Amino acid sequence: MRPLPDGRDEFALTTEVRLTSSNIYYFDNNATTRVAPEVVDAMLPFLRELWGNPSSAYGFGSQVGRHIDAARAHVAALINADPKEIIFTSCGTESDNTALQSALATQPKKRHLITTAVEHSAILKHCEALCKQGFEVSLLPVDRDGLLDLQTLETAIRPETALVSIMMANNETGVLFPIKEAAAICRSKGVLFHTDATQAPGRLKIDVKDLDVDMLTLSAHKLHAPKGIGLLYVRRSTRFQPSIFGGHQERGRRAGTENVAGIVAFGRAAELALANLHDENTRVRALRDRLEETLLKEVPNTFRVGSKELRLPNTSNLCFEFIEAEAILMLLNHLGICASSGSACATGSIDPSHVLTAMGLSPMQSRSCVRFSLGVYNTDEDVDYALKNLPPIIAKLRVLSH
Ligand SMILES: *Cc1c(COP(=O)(O)O)cnc(C)c1O
Repeated sequence: MRPLPDGRDEFALTTEVRLTSSNIYYFDNNATTRVAPEVVDAMLPFLRELWGNPSSAYGFGSQVGRHIDAARAHVAALINADPKEIIFTSCGTESDNTALQSALATQPKKRHLITTAVEHSAILKHCEALCKQGFEVSLLPVDRDGLLDLQTLETAIRPETALVSIMMANNETGVLFPIKEAAAICRSKGVLFHTDATQAPGRLKIDVKDLDVDMLTLSAHKLHAPKGIGLLYVRRSTRFQPSIFGGHQERGRRAGTENVAGIVAFGRAAELALANLHDENTRVRALRDRLEETLLKEVPNTFRVGSKELRLPNTSNLCFEFIEAEAILMLLNHLGICASSGSACATGSIDPSHVLTAMGLSPMQSRSCVRFSLGVYNTDEDVDYALKNLPPIIAKLRVLSH
């Protein structure tokens, strides 16, 4: 994010060279975010001094519980929930898994689930496992822009549908889904509705009462808090079955001694996310647009992936046709620029992204896509640096590929 040290253009991932945020240009905020300094300050006392167990009877431990309560109120305020409707978990993946498990466990006769073809693997891989156990899963398709047709949801719902799970914003493309409308369809048919809103905080307003969803997932490390802490919102009137059994933490809904520092961090980050909403939607959006528009203009055979308008303000997924994203990312890495491809690396071979494939991109095109995801710590200089370096990198690779 700050300039590179003089004369240095190569980074090696060795123990001697540590890559820190002072010598990188970070465009991968959908993968994880920098822990905000304010968040570090808020959590440190719970690592240094206030390390008692909140379940203990004596004051040294039980005083910690008040800070958990305060954090719960802050994360509840972020999504307009009641604090009692918040269950802290270990991550977004656990929240997603728990939502599906609970819907199936509380409705044992209903053995059908509906989700989309472009969900995070925390939903899709779990659905694959459930299919092996005999449950049925319908995957809703998306169009070329990554958008969902709610008519396909209407027709997919069956009497035995236990839950519909649809993400609020896609992590690879930033494309938004009509959650309020989808939840209304489900409610009218008596089907539970969950949304994975992990990419939304600080970027979109989230109001669980207005959306009228039964369950909602968030992960703290996507909003400038540390990894390893998430939450599941469960509406007061929605039946819930825990996935993790043991102590009475989280009002018996998620056992295990609380990740106190993580919870406090999440609470502070939730306050900041509300405060950052404006910056993300004005300054960060303008940075993203300048990056995207300049690249589309200056680099031939390049197109944007996903809807231009119905999209998070921070995300740009671009297809640089005829070259491998992995090659681009390697050269960007040498310049200290962090971005990512949608593709997941499996056993050495690169599978094209399931999201881009579902949008109708060819395997070749999917392997040519690079995702840039910005955030509140990005500056004009970051975008200048990327714009100075990317076009020559693409030109060089295009020459090599001919
Ligand atoms: C990051 C992410 C998750 C997983 O959250 P973890 O806390 O990393 O487990 C789930 N869904 C979406 C959309 C994400 O972006």
